[in-house]
Amino acid sequence: MKICVLPGDGIGPEIVAEAVRVLKALDLKFEMEEALLGGCAVDATGKPYPEATQKLAREADAVLLGAVGGPQWDSLPREQRPERGLLGIRKDLNLFANLRPAILYPELANASTLKAEVVAGLDILIIRELTGDIYFGQPRGIREENGERVGFNTMVYSESEIRRIGHVAFQAAQKRNKKLCSVDKMNVLECTQLWRDVMIEVSKDYPDVELSHMLVDNAAMQLVKAPKQFDVMVTGNMFGDILSDEASMLTGSIGMLPSASLDEKNKGLYEPSHGSAPDIAGKGVANPLATILSAAMMLRYTFGLEAEAVRIENAVKRVLANGYRTGDIYERGTTKVGTKEMGDAVLAAL
Ligand code: NAD
Repeated sequence: MKICVLPGDGIGPEIVAEAVRVLKALDLKFEMEEALLGGCAVDATGKPYPEATQKLAREADAVLLGAVGGPQWDSLPREQRPERGLLGIRKDLNLFANLRPAILYPELANASTLKAEVVAGLDILIIRELTGDIYFGQPRGIREENGERVGFNTMVYSESEIRRIGHVAFQAAQKRNKKLCSVDKMNVLECTQLWRDVMIEVSKDYPDVELSHMLVDNAAMQLVKAPKQFDVMVTGNMFGDILSDEASMLTGSIGMLPSASLDEKNKGLYEPSHGSAPDIAGKGVANPLATILSAAMMLRYTFGLEAEAVRIENAVKRVLANGYRTGDIYERGTTKVGTKEMGDAVLAAL
């Protein structure tokens, strides 16, 4: 079990250090090696995704990433920006399935802008296809037609692309409450009619999972109206981009949200959903829980270690129930702790 560890920039090294401590505490036979990605890699080598990192990432079974970016690199040419490193590694490893849980622990229900009874205990998983759809379809561009500019993009999905994300989604649903909602716009878009047809075909392999369908406009409404009706949602790249951000904001606490991006063999890149938070970097106050929960996803999805994943998740629940909070989730009456103390609390709960 070889893990490539990429702390990255800003708060990245601080939060990744806590996730690494948690992984080590499990006493499993992990091999972990660190490399550079993002702004720190640009400073050291001139490239955001240097060859040594590429080699390590390709050889590893999983990658644990903190975050990349910061104002000091914003004025560099596009190829040297830290974000290029992130796009580069996702493309290089052919990570086509993005898994983003939106979980709201009952203790944090007040962090949401929605009424506590609508969101308390929310636990949904959004699966977004990451390498196809209108973001990559050809032809695309802006051209002159009849004396004016016309912009155009192509929404395109092949059957095989839909099928492979379908399998990821059904298998994820099997690990949870066995309910999968596929989101499309089949009343208007032929591309998503095919999406729905293929999802129905794939469902034949998973008789234990209940498949439903929802149009994307309704899905956007239902997510704020009654989000707890969902278990797993699967959708294309563009709809998923929007719905996964909407779902994560239901929880109101960005420091709590993990994510995974998988390839066809369940190799994965695991990272918190938030960025490098330059405003609090180096202060020892960042919330490490999103990164610790990303490590739990790694155990579940890449290594098939469900029991250990649940152990970490339960430790996080225990820590919240015991009243420990970093600044981003602090409320009066709870105990404010820093990054390392939060890591200590998770280790103690483990
Ligand atoms: P951000 O997520 O870094 O920060 C937004 C706000 O949330 C800030 O106030 C920050 O302090 C807070 N925050 C984020 N994570 C936190 C945590 N773990 N604990 C406590 N507070 C936390 O988003 P931003 O400010 O828009 O971007 C900052 C930098 O991060 C930019 O350079 C951006 O390009 C980069 N970024 C990287 C990724 C990634 O690596 N995947 C994703 C988004 C943004």
